[in-house]
Amino acid sequence: MNVATRDIPDPRLVDTFGRVATDLRVSLTDKCNLRCSYCMPAEGLDWLPKPELLTDDEVIRLMRVAVEQLGVREVRFTGGEPLLRPGVVGIVAATTALRPRPEVSLTTNGIGLARTAEALAAAGLDRVNVSLDTLDAERFRTITRRDRLSDVLAGMRAAAAAGLTPVKVNAVLLRGVNDGDAVSLLEYCLQHGYELRIIEQMPLDAQHAWDRTTMITAEEILASLRTGFNLTEDPTERGASPAETWLVDGGPARVGVIASVTRAFCGTCDRTRLTADGQIRNCLFARDESDLRTALRSGGSDEELADRWRLAMWGKLPGHGINDPSFLQPVRPMSSIGG
Ligand code: SAM
Ligand code: SF4
Repeated sequence: MNVATRDIPDPRLVDTFGRVATDLRVSLTDKCNLRCSYCMPAEGLDWLPKPELLTDDEVIRLMRVAVEQLGVREVRFTGGEPLLRPGVVGIVAATTALRPRPEVSLTTNGIGLARTAEALAAAGLDRVNVSLDTLDAERFRTITRRDRLSDVLAGMRAAAAAGLTPVKVNAVLLRGVNDGDAVSLLEYCLQHGYELRIIEQMPLDAQHAWDRTTMITAEEILASLRTGFNLTEDPTERGASPAETWLVDGGPARVGVIASVTRAFCGTCDRTRLTADGQIRNCLFARDESDLRTALRSGGSDEELADRWRLAMWGKLPGHGINDPSFLQPVRPMSSIGG
């Protein structure tokens, strides 16, 4: 797009459709210790070479630019598996020290959380989302190709004990594998005070095996949950949240469904993304990225970095286009973008 930042009418991260990005998702690494079948192949991926990864100081500098100059109010660290990043606690501490203080959260598969929850809470982390697709150890192993269910459950308990609440649990249902697990997941979450959100499977797997005709839709997820619970409309304002929520058995407990495919919410999107190798993405499904790492490493000022980020967001498309016949999956898989 041929625009200069002086043409952009706002110092924040705005786009031509009037959306303002205030929620930043940061991938701290593309590496992972699980191999979820809807995310990556059994053999893993060619991980990003270390020199291409932003250093901790570089990540922290970009967090400062985002918060102080671009109006970012929420930061979520993700990956890959963000707890595999050795400097994660220091990065969280530096981010929560920024002013105005952003809300800081982390999305993790839960492995290693039992060990790190206390330190993360002491660094100011507000809450965590833990991914868990089943409570059945055998199905957990089938989906993630690792035998780590008990580590994940221990991680969730440690997060709750450390005050990283509400602990939200993200689940993806796969037809013929764990599509019968929605009710038991919700029961478990209610017992422990966690908030369950079930996510429609998206075309972001490295293997490009996603198939629209076999994905479990929001409608099916809700029908499945309703076999065990009474779900009613949640009166709270949804805002820019990707999750549509329902009250469970009259509330106050809630359950959410993130229906990116069948009930897209692009019109209210407030998200901007930074990959572990320093690229800005204005959408999970964007086919273009804007390189901040080169500017960062060639002496660019904070103002220049902020300008590049504004330009990257200005060109955001109105929607992800998954439902268009011409849709092309982005080259980067979810694990490298940061989900
Ligand atoms: N490793 C961490 C984890 O699993 O929570 C953080 C990264 S993971 C990419 C973030 C979230 O994306 C997880 O909740 C995971 O279930 C979800 N995810 C991964 N691939 C997906 C796909 N193809 N469709 C929908 N959600 C997906
Ligand atoms: Fe790893 Fe998360 Fe992808 Fe599973 S979904 S393979 S835990 S990055």
